[in-house]
Amino acid sequence: MQGWDKVEALTADAYAFGLGETRGLVADYIPILAETDPELFGVCVAEVDGSIHSAGDAAVEFSIQSISKAFVYALVCEELGHDLVKEHVGVNNTGLAFNSVMAIELNYGHPMNPMVNAGALATTALVPGGSPAEQWELIRQGLSRFAGHPLELDGEVYRSEMATNQRNMAIARLLESYRRIEIDPLKVVDVYTKQCALRVSARDIAVMGATLADGGVNPITGEQVVSAAVCRDTLSVLAANGMYERSGEWLFEIGLPGKSGVAGGIVTISPGKAGIGVFSPRLDSAGNSVRGQAATSFLSRSLGLNIFASDVSPTRLEP
Ligand code: GLU
Repeated sequence: MQGWDKVEALTADAYAFGLGETRGLVADYIPILAETDPELFGVCVAEVDGSIHSAGDAAVEFSIQSISKAFVYALVCEELGHDLVKEHVGVNNTGLAFNSVMAIELNYGHPMNPMVNAGALATTALVPGGSPAEQWELIRQGLSRFAGHPLELDGEVYRSEMATNQRNMAIARLLESYRRIEIDPLKVVDVYTKQCALRVSARDIAVMGATLADGGVNPITGEQVVSAAVCRDTLSVLAANGMYERSGEWLFEIGLPGKSGVAGGIVTISPGKAGIGVFSPRLDSAGNSVRGQAATSFLSRSLGLNIFASDVSPTRLEP
């Protein structure tokens, strides 16, 4: 594969390329996130054969935030199946902000897709378990299986967000009024806020992405976390909706499914090849890490990962 033997060097080059980018602002609507060091920057590529390539602050932990939506969605699809989750949560882009209330109203109460807060809350509500505590434990264990080691809650981030997430509470109540959430909506917000406050590193999200790239098998532990069909469904949802209102632009420039979170992480998946994890807290106006986008775009181009690219068939080139 083009450049694939040089992936260790290209990871370092992607880091150097991203480092030149100093635009963007650290998220502050969750108060504790505003205290993050804006200079932190880590890049990691996890190949499906288990090789790991890291540069910079790839071991520094941050809160997973919206990246959790992709993996909770995969776990719920694994439990409940393609059709039920598609009908209940949807797969289409809203074109509106991740925490938009208007998107719910414009779609008659349908949450539209699992990568916006409405759809993520509706998805978390579907997690099996007799109580919010059981649902939370299933999520924590499930995401830990994707990462290949136990993930821990960042209590400070959880408490900081719980004190300020009235908007998510309003979204959950609205979904309850449309019967898209059928259990206590405020308890759903609590579990969702915990899932967003799980601590991960760029390396962790690279391995989580590599699991989705590898038919659901974690390339480090060898465990089958979800089925290959669930990976396929999750990646198509990410391609359409993973990067907030810039999902189209991301697909155009980078050509891979990805998901970002407001703490500055981005996971990108190259099906059959690798997961890419990046972390840098300065965000663009849509909420995507600026350095993270630069480094991922560098890797997509230098490794030839764009899934829409093709070469002229060799048979046509023959005389
Ligand atoms: N916990 C955050 C929220 O619900 C996640 C946002 C994000 O990463 O996009 O607002």
